[in-house]
Amino acid sequence: MNNKTDNPFAVLFEPMDIGPVTARNRFYQVPHCTGLGHANPQAEVALRATKAEGGWGVVCTQEVEIHPSSDLTPYLEGRLWDDADIPAHRAMTDAVHEHNSLAGIELVHNGQHAANLGTRIPPIAPSHRPVDLYHPMQARAMDKQDIKQLKQWYVDAAKRSRQAGYDIVYVYAGHNMATLMHFLLPRYNDRSDEYGGSLVNRVRLLKETLSDVRDAVGADCGIALRLAVDELLGDAGLQAHDEGSEIVSMLADIPDLWDVNISGWDNDSATARFEPDEGYQEQYTAFVKKLVKKPVVGVGRFTSPSAMVSQINRGVLDFIGAARPSIADPFLPNKILAGDIESIRECIGCNICVSSDNVVAPIRCTQNPTMGEEWRRGWHPEFSPKSKTAEQVLVVGAGPAGLESALQLSRLGHSVMLAEAGLDVGGRILNECKLPGLASYRRVRDYRQLQLSVLQNVDVLLDNKLSATDILETQIQHVFIATGSLWRHDGLGRQHPKGLAIGSAAMPVFTPDDIYAGATLPNSVLVYDDDHYYLGGVLAESLHQSGHAVTLVTPANCASAWTDHTLEQHKIQAQLLNLGINIVTAQELHSINENTVLLANVYSQQLTELDVGAVVMVTSRSPVDSVYEELAFVQLRDETKIKTLQRIGDCLAPSTVAAAVYSGHLAARELGCDKANQIYRRESVQVNFHR
Ligand code: ADP
Ligand code: SF4
Repeated sequence: MNNKTDNPFAVLFEPMDIGPVTARNRFYQVPHCTGLGHANPQAEVALRATKAEGGWGVVCTQEVEIHPSSDLTPYLEGRLWDDADIPAHRAMTDAVHEHNSLAGIELVHNGQHAANLGTRIPPIAPSHRPVDLYHPMQARAMDKQDIKQLKQWYVDAAKRSRQAGYDIVYVYAGHNMATLMHFLLPRYNDRSDEYGGSLVNRVRLLKETLSDVRDAVGADCGIALRLAVDELLGDAGLQAHDEGSEIVSMLADIPDLWDVNISGWDNDSATARFEPDEGYQEQYTAFVKKLVKKPVVGVGRFTSPSAMVSQINRGVLDFIGAARPSIADPFLPNKILAGDIESIRECIGCNICVSSDNVVAPIRCTQNPTMGEEWRRGWHPEFSPKSKTAEQVLVVGAGPAGLESALQLSRLGHSVMLAEAGLDVGGRILNECKLPGLASYRRVRDYRQLQLSVLQNVDVLLDNKLSATDILETQIQHVFIATGSLWRHDGLGRQHPKGLAIGSAAMPVFTPDDIYAGATLPNSVLVYDDDHYYLGGVLAESLHQSGHAVTLVTPANCASAWTDHTLEQHKIQAQLLNLGINIVTAQELHSINENTVLLANVYSQQLTELDVGAVVMVTSRSPVDSVYEELAFVQLRDETKIKTLQRIGDCLAPSTVAAAVYSGHLAARELGCDKANQIYRRESVQVNFHR
């Protein structure tokens, strides 16, 4: 199927007006951060251009700071502080327009959300309030002059947006990250003038800003309002059935497009672990379409076209908004148009993409290894130039790294033998997707397995545990070893860099791999988490589900500490506590005895004794690399014809699933390449010396 009329999802491809501009379809890439921002303009342009090429009718920026008093340093968002910032934006709009898509810009003033660490301007807010993120500083209450200036900054930025060629200009009042939202909320706004108190007063600044921006952009540009309509805080915050609806009614006719969602970012970009279903925002945002005549866009991790069509047909949304689904598959709209539904690389809802922004790094994605690499490595998510020479390649191990490398190798034109010891492909995914909340992780395996199954130049050999001798006997000259890793029993990790001495009389010690293999554990279990990502917490939950009394011990100050970056930590902590799991923080394992363990406080070293029946160690992993080591030894002595011998994924360095997929993809792309070249293109900063 390749035309719109044959397509059961044709409604998704109807052109839609946004005020004076027309989107070619209903696929709308809502504003989302990339960790690239103003410091990596070429990478940003290529990323957005790829989305437009992939069929998104509207492609938006990330949040774009309108003034130095909204400075998110060290985070790399967009910037439009003055005219010097226009060319980078012009490059983005030109690239998006080349694919007949509309370009939207999300203009933000962050107020008390931005500490202005770069500009050192005291942040501003409706009322005196501490700045977000425990920065030891306060935002000062805005006076009338500040309010006037804020509106002017919006007007100036809107005019610059037009100069840069944007078709849609946003006013942003969402995610609890914007001054215009802070004004709406009584908990932040205790002003006694006409901008505080009653709802009419609290909405005034947003309304005035929208009107000013409308006047500034002229008649041939759409304006959008991104509004959080519910904060999921109950009476303590904005609620859809209460002031959320009233605000929408009050502003109904002003914007050309309503971009509505829930706040904060953790709720809007909820992980699949906590919001497993597509369209999870519908219950909060569906009312908007009943109150406004203008088109509405909303998100909900939409990856299936039938769910999208249902949103349109039931009158919930006019545009299918997507951030993460467009990251995992920039070509999602084109695949639906072509009827190639099974080739959609579905987002798994892990928020590794979000974590990039939170650790101030360029975006990455578990499912899409090309994300963020469009410019600096020249990677395209769908098309790979054929390799100059077609090689025969053996990939050993079919976890995320092996699967991705086999897939990419075959797309490059090589012929691939993929050998897997187990009875199924997927590696760690096969185990982890059975854990509570991680079912969607299976998509990492399913997408690749399905793609491989239709390729002619790949042989997948299951139940084939290869030794070094087996590999040598194949006579294949290019070998990737993707044999994964195993969790350690000895507790070696950050807190115990040399591991723990565990005597023979000690209680049983298990690893996650033992549990996957069906080990029988006693009733009372201590999970020791010195890994700090999801697995310790999720195993604690799983063991609780299977009837164990679980204590989670961690040297960190909270459970699953790193998941703060995936916006989950507080949800995980709440979940474990609500289940009755005992969380013991800031404690390391000191010793493991027959019926007790001794814990040492990581600050004071004070000891505490705990009665438990077994310990589950989630501390670090050892690569399964003995086959590689044997081959490397033979290769060193020039006793083999193997030209390429390379470890990939966890076998090289245990890490996230995203890192394993990336490692497999990179190795495939680099086969036969001259690695002496610079590893990737870098954005060069033009230096103008001012004396
Ligand atoms: P990664 O995340 O790096 O892909 P995984 O641990 O998920 O690593 O997957 C590794 C895969 O390698 C597993 O499916 C495992 O069964 C397989 N494997 C390990 N050793 C061998 C071997 N000698 N021959 C074939 N497959 C192997
Ligand atoms: Fe989806 Fe995870 Fe990719 Fe983000 S990183 S787009 S959540 S698969």
